[in-house]
Amino acid sequence: MPIVDLHAHTTFSDGTSSPSEVVHAYLMAGVQIMSITDHDTLEALPQAKELTKKAGILFVPGVEISSCEHDHLHILGYNIDPQNKLLKEALAQNRENRNIRAKKIIKQLQEAGINITEEEVFKLVRNVASRAHIADAIRNKKITSSRQEAFRKFLIPGKPGYVPNEGLKVCEVISIIKQAGGKAFMAHLGIVQEYWNFPAWVNSGLDGIEVYYPSHKQAMREELLKLAKKYNLLISAGSDHHGKKSGRDNAPGLQVPQEVFDSIKQNLCK
Ligand SMILES: [Zn+2]
Ligand SMILES: [Zn+2]
Repeated sequence: MPIVDLHAHTTFSDGTSSPSEVVHAYLMAGVQIMSITDHDTLEALPQAKELTKKAGILFVPGVEISSCEHDHLHILGYNIDPQNKLLKEALAQNRENRNIRAKKIIKQLQEAGINITEEEVFKLVRNVASRAHIADAIRNKKITSSRQEAFRKFLIPGKPGYVPNEGLKVCEVISIIKQAGGKAFMAHLGIVQEYWNFPAWVNSGLDGIEVYYPSHKQAMREELLKLAKKYNLLISAGSDHHGKKSGRDNAPGLQVPQEVFDSIKQNLCK
């Protein structure tokens, strides 16, 4: 079966690998079509485009945009116009919201006796701040032994460093991707099942669903395939690779049926 992967992060957001390390890992994994989908930034895309061209991998420029509805309710946008004004403004606002959120989290952690500073966190940020950078700062101080453990102990709902996300609703994100000429896909829906709202999303212009995802078991895949059929949506596959020591070191590349590969190639590869 062909191998594709339309979901990966680099050091431009919360990944631990540079674009060139990611492309190399994907080449080694035999990935035929790939995307880079950093959170709320398009900065890695020009490099990634060049690198994939040299590697002989088909490249789909992407982005993963957060919503305010849930920490993991994310929308993937493919082939968007990077110069689109509304999109650029939305991404800039999301990045600013991330900075504000990070500072609030650090303050709450300090109040709870976890002494990490803004400086210790922001020196780890290349382009887009995320909770992963706060987790890394906690780990660097040996308060925990890994990024994952820092999330579990301090950064998720109910823990002292939890601050909810602010920003756009899912339907607003979908509309922004669409008006920027892109295709909008819902990411990793298996982890946010209680928030599904297909009628509203489809109404806003949703194009597809990330059906193949490492934590989606067969029953979840089948349910999402059924919904894709019902709403006439495209199907994609993504590993959400974040690189080594990220705590989400999902192996690059997912095997998909030939017809899914053909559909991705036809609808997303330019
Ligand atoms: Zn995500
Ligand atoms: Zn992701």
